[in-house]
Amino acid sequence: MKYANIIVNISHENLDKTFQYVIPDRLKDILNVGDYVSVPFGRGNKVIEGYVLEITDKPEYDPGKLKEIIEIKTDSRLVEHKLIRLAYWMKRRYGSTMINALKTVLPIKKIVKEKEERSIVLRLDEQAAYERLEMYVKKHQTARERLLRELINEKELDYRLVTSKLNISAPTINAMEKQDVLSVLKTRVYRNTAKGTKDSTDTAVKLNEAQEHIASGIIDEYRQGIRGTYLIHGITGSGKTEIYMEIIDEVVREGKQVIVLIPEISLTYQTVMRFYKRFGEQVSTLHSRLSDGEKYDQFERAKKGQISVMIGPRSALFTPFEDLGLIVIDEEHENTYKSDSMPKYHARETAIELASLHGASVILGSATPSLEAYYRALNNEYKLFTLNRRAKDEATLPEVHITDLRQELKDGNKSMFGRELKSLMEDRLNKGEQIMLFLNRRGYAGFVSCRACGHVMKCPHCDVSLSLHEGGRLKCHYCGYEREAVSVCPECSSKLIGGMRAGTEQVEKEVRKLFPYASVLRMDADTTAGKGNYEKILSAFANREADVLIGTQMIVKGHDFPYVTLMGILIADMSLNGGDYRSAERTFQLLTQAAGRAGRAGLKGDVVIQTYKPDHYAVTAAATQDYRRFYDEEIVYRSLMEYPPVGHMLAIMIESGDEEMADNYAKTLAEALKNDIMGSLQVKDVIMIGPTDASIKKINDIYRKMIYLKSKDQDRLVSLKDKAEEYRDINRDKRIRVTFDQDPVNGY
Ligand code: ADP
Ligand code: ZN
Ligand code: ZN
Repeated sequence: MKYANIIVNISHENLDKTFQYVIPDRLKDILNVGDYVSVPFGRGNKVIEGYVLEITDKPEYDPGKLKEIIEIKTDSRLVEHKLIRLAYWMKRRYGSTMINALKTVLPIKKIVKEKEERSIVLRLDEQAAYERLEMYVKKHQTARERLLRELINEKELDYRLVTSKLNISAPTINAMEKQDVLSVLKTRVYRNTAKGTKDSTDTAVKLNEAQEHIASGIIDEYRQGIRGTYLIHGITGSGKTEIYMEIIDEVVREGKQVIVLIPEISLTYQTVMRFYKRFGEQVSTLHSRLSDGEKYDQFERAKKGQISVMIGPRSALFTPFEDLGLIVIDEEHENTYKSDSMPKYHARETAIELASLHGASVILGSATPSLEAYYRALNNEYKLFTLNRRAKDEATLPEVHITDLRQELKDGNKSMFGRELKSLMEDRLNKGEQIMLFLNRRGYAGFVSCRACGHVMKCPHCDVSLSLHEGGRLKCHYCGYEREAVSVCPECSSKLIGGMRAGTEQVEKEVRKLFPYASVLRMDADTTAGKGNYEKILSAFANREADVLIGTQMIVKGHDFPYVTLMGILIADMSLNGGDYRSAERTFQLLTQAAGRAGRAGLKGDVVIQTYKPDHYAVTAAATQDYRRFYDEEIVYRSLMEYPPVGHMLAIMIESGDEEMADNYAKTLAEALKNDIMGSLQVKDVIMIGPTDASIKKINDIYRKMIYLKSKDQDRLVSLKDKAEEYRDINRDKRIRVTFDQDPVNGY
C-alpha cells in the first residue's frame, strides 16, 4: 500500500502540516509528487484540493482510518505543480528534507502593506539640467552628479532602483528636490504611463556577424520547437549580454517568460539599466537586500503575469512563472551559483531540470566556462558557441607581462612590487590614469608563528590559524574571534613570534610609502563590512576620486572602469595553494578576469602578473587568455583523478560538538556504506575516501568528519546518499548532524 502526504494550504507556515491519504489502486502508477489532487476533508468529507508533497509506503497513523485520494486534477500549467516537482528533484539529488527543499523554492508569504511605487522625474529642461550638472561637477558633488546624469538620459527613474543600485541616499534626493531639480512622485503613474523607458528600436544595437550567428542559431532552433542547453564562451565585452537580450526579445514576444541569473556582485545598476531600457517595465530584479516582503511582491507580480523577465542571483531561479521559455545564466562558472545551505543545489543543474519541466531552453555564458559546462559542451550535451573578439572596435586586449618573483629576489628586490610593475605604476600616476592592484587574500592573511618553537597562533574555537591585522590584532575569519597582539610565544616564551606575509593592508602601506602623492582606496572584506560600503568604494573609484584601488576578488568582477590602464596581480599563484581540486580552475578564472580589467575605453592597457610559478599552466594560459589550453591541461588531471566533471563526487559531512562521537558515527556510517558498495554488482564503480577530518577540522567548536565517495555514475551516488539518509534516520541522534554535498564546489 502506498500513501501520499498532501498539503491543502501551501505557504511557508503550513509546509509541515500535511495530511496523509491512501493512494487507490487506480492512481497507484500515475500519481506523482507535485500533483494537484482532490481529497475528502474533515468530518463532513468536504471535497477540497491539495498538492502531493511526498509518496511513501509508511503510514503515519492506523492505515485503516486513512481516507483515499479522489482524483488527480493536475493542471500542468499550475506554477506550484512544477515548483513542487522541482523541490522533489532537489531533495532527491542533493539530499535534504522535503520541507527544506520546498522552503528553498517557494516564496515566503508575509503579510506586508502594499508598498507605494515611487519614481523620480527631472524637472529642469535640458539646458538648465546641463548647467546644474556643471555646478555639481565643480563642487565635487558626485552623488548628485551621478543621479542627474542618469535623469538627463532617462527623464524618469524608479526610486528604489536609484537608492539601491545607483547608491544615492534619500537625503541627497531630498536635497535635489528642494533645489527643484527633480520631483519624487508618490503615485503608481510610473507603472502605467511611463512606458517611455522602453524603446527597442532605439536601444537595441545591431549585432555584429559573430553575435548574429549565435543569436539566430539559437532563435531558429527555438522557433522549431527545439529546446536545449547552450554555452556561449566569449571573453568579457564580446557582446554576450546583447545576444541574450536579442533572444529574450524573441521569447518574450512569444508570450513566454525568462529568468536571467547574474552573480549578485555583477548585478550592477548599469547591467539592470540595459535590461530596463530594452524591455521596460516587464523587467523586475531581485537582490539579496530586498526584504522577504519585497521579494514576495516581486514573485506575486510574476505569478500574475505582470512581468516577464526576472533578473537576479541564484534564488531568482524560483520565480513562479507560468510558462517559462528561457533561462540565462551569465558568468555560469561563478561559485555563488552553488548554494551552501541544504539542499546544496547548483543553479546550473537545477536550471536545466526546471527548463525541462517547462519545456524551456537554457543559455550559459562565460569568459572562463566551468570545467563542467565546457566538458559537457565538448560531449555534445550542450551546444557550444564561441566569441573571440570584443564587440566594440576601440576596445583592445591589454598587453600582459609576467614577472618571476624568484628572480626579483635573486636580483635583490625584496619589495612586493617587481621592477616592471613599479615603473608602470609611476608611468600611470604621471599620466593621471588609474591602477588596480589585485591580491587574492585579505588582511595580512599570514599566520603568526614562533620562529623558536614553531607554534602557530590558532583560533580556540576553530581549527584555523588566526590572521594578523592592522595594529597586530589577531582575527579568526571563520567565527569572528579576536584577540590582542602577541609579543611572546605562549608556548616557549620566545620573543621571535610574528608574521609577515603579503595582504591587502600591507600592499596599501607599501603603495603609500612608494608613491606618497597617490590616493589609494582599499577594498576587501574588512573595508566593505558595512552596508553599502562596497558600492561606495566602487563608485568613488569610478568617479576617479582615487588613483589606485587595491583589493581581493571583489575588484575583478563585473565592473567597468574605463580609466584603468594598469592591473597588477601581486602574487598570482597564491590561490593555487587552496588545497582542493578546483584551485587551478579558480586561479585561472581570477587571473583571466583580472587581466580583462585593464584598457577598456580605447586606452592601451597593461597587465603585470607577478608569480613564483611563472610556468604553471593556470598562469601561462591566463596570460595569453587561452582558455582552451587551460582546459586541455586541467581535464587530464581531473580525469586521472576521476574528479568532476569526469567523475562525480559526493561529500558526506558528519558534525558534532563531541569529537569522539563524530568519529564513531562516521566510522560506522562508512562501514554501512562499504557493505552496500560491496554487496552491489557494480562494486568497482565507487571509490570511498575516509572517514577523515575535514581540512578545517573544527569550526565554532563543532568537529567535522568527512566521507567522500567518487563514481562515474551520478545515480549511483544518489542512491548511496539515500542509503546514508536511511542510516541517519534509523540511527537518529540529536548531537550529530549529517549533511550531503554532490559535486562540491568549495572545499571543507
Ligand atoms: P559581455 O556580456 O560579453 O561582457 P556586452 O554585451 O556587455 O558583452 O558588450 C560589451 C560592450 O559592447 C557593451 O557596452 C555593449 O553595449 C557593446 N556592444 C555589444 N555588442 C555590440 C554591437 N554589436 N555593436 C556595438 N556595440 C556593442
Ligand atoms: Zn614558541
Ligand atoms: Zn574561530
